[in-house]
Amino acid sequence: MQDPIKRTAGEAARHYDRIREESVSGLARRVDIRRHLEAVYGFDAPISVESVLDDVARMLGRGTVHATHPAYFGLFNPAVLRSAIAASTLVAAYNPQAATYSHGTAAIEIEQHVLGFLAASIGIDREKLSAHFTSGGQEANTEAVVLALARRFPEVHERGLRALPGELVFYVSSEAHHSFDKAAQITGLGRQSARRVETDAELRMDPAALVDAIAEDRAHGHLPFLVVGTVGATSSGAIDPLEAIADIATRERLWFHADAAFGGAASLSARLRPFLAGIERADSITWDAHKWLQMPLGCGMLFSRHPETALAAFGSESPYMPRPREGSPDPFLVSHQWSRRASGIPLFVALGELGQPGFEAMIDRMTDLGDALRQRLVRAGYRIVNRTPLPVVAFTHPRIERGELTPGDVARTIHRRGRAWIAPTELSDGSRVLRACIGNFRTEPQDLDLLLEELEFAIAQ
Ligand SMILES: *Cc1c(COP(=O)(O)O)cnc(C)c1O
Repeated sequence: MQDPIKRTAGEAARHYDRIREESVSGLARRVDIRRHLEAVYGFDAPISVESVLDDVARMLGRGTVHATHPAYFGLFNPAVLRSAIAASTLVAAYNPQAATYSHGTAAIEIEQHVLGFLAASIGIDREKLSAHFTSGGQEANTEAVVLALARRFPEVHERGLRALPGELVFYVSSEAHHSFDKAAQITGLGRQSARRVETDAELRMDPAALVDAIAEDRAHGHLPFLVVGTVGATSSGAIDPLEAIADIATRERLWFHADAAFGGAASLSARLRPFLAGIERADSITWDAHKWLQMPLGCGMLFSRHPETALAAFGSESPYMPRPREGSPDPFLVSHQWSRRASGIPLFVALGELGQPGFEAMIDRMTDLGDALRQRLVRAGYRIVNRTPLPVVAFTHPRIERGELTPGDVARTIHRRGRAWIAPTELSDGSRVLRACIGNFRTEPQDLDLLLEELEFAIAQ
């Protein structure tokens, strides 16, 4: 009997090499998977680990939308670098407790080394940095709301929102990610406190509308405390005017958070970095390495320029843990999670392997493919409806505009055939469109051919 770790490593490598043979959309039906689980896995007797592992691989193969497939043009879900898969296995094997420095010394040093490097790339001074890995952008955005509250209204820490004389409100663009609705709810603010500010013709937050919204809220006695600039909106790829938002935040004494879950990676590219100007003025930044940096899921990041606020917001005393103190290196004292997987180690390994130039080349190549896709769509009679330097292409077709079929119809036909994958979406101006994103470093020009063929077929239905 072969060691299951060695055997699985071989299987994982084979899957990586043969991803093109999979149907992108994972065609297994939910009921079939559930029936199989119920029939085989009553857990009343042991089964050989080989057969369980093989069975899991088979189920995952057939019942997953394969974001790692080069013809996946879907949401911000990445392929995964080979080195990161290897590193993930190491993390599972050592299982370092990355909550406390005393247990996870090496893991935490490795993570902080990577975070310091990435913070420098977005222009945050390492001396004033508090950064940690998160489960993803949702968690990082929720933490940003907590930090903003802790900074502006420290009394909330003990007494909650009832300590305040008015209703708290914060601002996001109408294209912003809906994680802020959840963040508003989880923090007890309530979803209404997330104000959606109008966007301009390019779907970026309109600074004048932001100023008006703040004035109106203040006139009603509400308490604005935070504004969020999105760097690469999910549907449109729009980048909000970060400098203008930073100016308004300074003037109005608001915490400025940049949600760069996808777009943060642009800071590693000399070509794209100028589009992020102003991000270095943010009080906190969300950046998901499990988006454009090709990491396994569970690799989000939060950066902040206020270590003392992070400690005030998340510090906690317990008899068996280190006490909070200034400059504390213990992640559980400056973030939401307690026990924590060292999810940053795969990013360290990949950066070590490729260096900054390797990541820059990868990002530039995906950006070029996005430009090529735009050109090819236009030549084939589609209309591009968004403008962004990022490879997020929102588009429509005359047949869709005439109401002869919907973006959902087109996407469903493509999903059914399983050769490529794109998403239908709705922009904040109400238009329903198709959206193709190049977020996968393994995508090749031949995959653009495939997508155009599939679109042509689906549009003709
Ligand atoms: C993906 C995304 C999020 C949510 O991040 P998760 O990692 O899915 O939790 C938030 N904001 C933006 C702009 C995103 O693209």
